Amino acid sequence: MDTVDDFFLDSVTQVRMPSWSRGRIAVTGDAAYCASPLSGMGTSLALAGAYVLAGELAHHAHHGDAFTRYERVLRPYVTRAQHSRARRLRRPPGRRHPRAPPRTV
Ligand SMILES: Cc1cc2nc3c(=O)[nH]c(=O)nc-3n(C[C@H](O)[C@H](O)[C@H](O)COP(=O)(O)OP(=O)(O)OC[C@H]3O[C@@H](n4cnc5c(N)ncnc54)[C@H](O)[C@@H]3O)c2cc1C
Repeated sequence: MDTVDDFFLDSVTQVRMPSWSRGRIAVTGDAAYCASPLSGMGTSLALAGAYVLAGELAHHAHHGDAFTRYERVLRPYVTRAQHSRARRLRRPPGRRHPRAPPRTV
């Protein structure tokens, strides 16, 4: 580290948005709920999100209803996935006090 001139450092960050749609726009995958190496599962979440969103759009005449249902169906899965390993990283076994929590955006 002391000898290189291109050393790069950044935080590991999960994306946690209060809503995954606005108007006619909905986001999915990393854009909506990037899991990061804090929990893994990013590919599964992206595929499941695309599948559920496409299914709900096919089943609802109005995109707003589809977006609402997409989020209702998928959010519990995303929340569980994002918290799975992140919680353990925050409080490693044997440590009495948690380390600084991972940053979320
Ligand atoms: C180093 C690394 C290792 C990983 N390992 C794993 C793993 O082992 N297991 C796992 O589950 N996940 C892993 N992930 C996470 C996983 O790759 C992502 O969660 C997943 O690819 C998200 O899919 P996505 O479709 O949401 O986004 P992406 O796969 O990023 O796809 C977005 C696409 O949009 C394109 N794009 C961007 N901007 C524009 C634009 N303006 N116009 C048109 N196209 C645009 C991009 O070029 C890209 O092709 C890893 C990620 C990284 C970086």
